[in-house]
Amino acid sequence: MTVRSGFSMLILVFALPACGTANKGARPLPGDTGGGGATTLPPIVMGQHGLPVPPGGAVAKPAGTAGNLAVLSWAGFKAAVSWTFDDGQPSHIAHYAELQATGVPMTFYVTTANAGLADFDATWAQAVRDGHEIGNHTVHHCHYDGTSLSGCTSGSLAATTTVEDEIDQCTTHIASNYGQAGVWTMAAPFGDSAYGKPAAARFLANRGAYTGLIAPDGNTDRFNLPCYMAVDNDTAARFGSQTDIARAGGKWLIFLIHTITPTSDNWYAPVDIADVTGGMTYGRSQGDVWMGTVADVAAYWVGQQLLAAAAPTVTGGETTWAWTLPAGFPPGKYLRVKVDGGTLAQAGWPLEWDEHGYYEVALDAGALTLVP
Ligand SMILES: [Zn+2]
Repeated sequence: MTVRSGFSMLILVFALPACGTANKGARPLPGDTGGGGATTLPPIVMGQHGLPVPPGGAVAKPAGTAGNLAVLSWAGFKAAVSWTFDDGQPSHIAHYAELQATGVPMTFYVTTANAGLADFDATWAQAVRDGHEIGNHTVHHCHYDGTSLSGCTSGSLAATTTVEDEIDQCTTHIASNYGQAGVWTMAAPFGDSAYGKPAAARFLANRGAYTGLIAPDGNTDRFNLPCYMAVDNDTAARFGSQTDIARAGGKWLIFLIHTITPTSDNWYAPVDIADVTGGMTYGRSQGDVWMGTVADVAAYWVGQQLLAAAAPTVTGGETTWAWTLPAGFPPGKYLRVKVDGGTLAQAGWPLEWDEHGYYEVALDAGALTLVP
């Protein structure tokens, strides 16, 4: 890397994939559509490649020796927090406008045997238009032990139905009815860990239901992600203290909410809407916590591991890292990286320095080169 060379890799042969303005504004921001209720916080400011802009700025482009490639954990924020809502419950539908008014991108794990509920499909289609993620929570919400399905809570399961059917028919319903380009994550019904295996063949990640936080280094099984599951009458203060713990430790925290009150449909672990939105607003108000969907944060987290694991090759003084995106990885995702100096390039194009302290690397490109 100390061998100096020209910019032979920077010949402008190909257009940089998935860069520039193509993605800018492609996804609406939660809160933009005036879903009802007032939010006291301004909309989250998004960068040109779909990641929110972190605090800070006016960081000079590094001018030292080329080297020391490093990925900024959680897109340059101190921590990440995702809010997930399971089952497609009537109380989520009833309180959707208040959730939307927080401006926080959310993940709704829907169980599609509940699609007959009032406003079910219409609400989740609106959620996609509002920039939220709809995730897979299977068709009938059954226990799965790795062999058989049992104890389903929604609809009636045919005897011939397999776990693959349970997952794939839910994905088909989401893809057919909600206008989402793909389905990238699922949540295991009851948190049953055996869902991890079929999830691994289909998705970027699967959320379980056990307690824990996720570190940037990737030791957590992405097909059995931990969470903080709200208990009966949980409070905004407790959600806030969980957020504080994640923020202090530089971790990713996933909240799991079941029933939201007031409601006449109390399914499980009811929490008042003011406590839910209070917890969400608290996270946003920190300013240095990335509030993102599970698909968005997981893509960043997995992408960071891919780049960290890539063995660099050096040719003519230029260092190249290459990676292959795994199955279920969403398109159009980016990583934020920094170096001590030199020029980073993808597909022959030099990357632009962002004064918030990073270059944005297109994961779809599959390779990154550092030119001294
Ligand atoms: Zn569930």
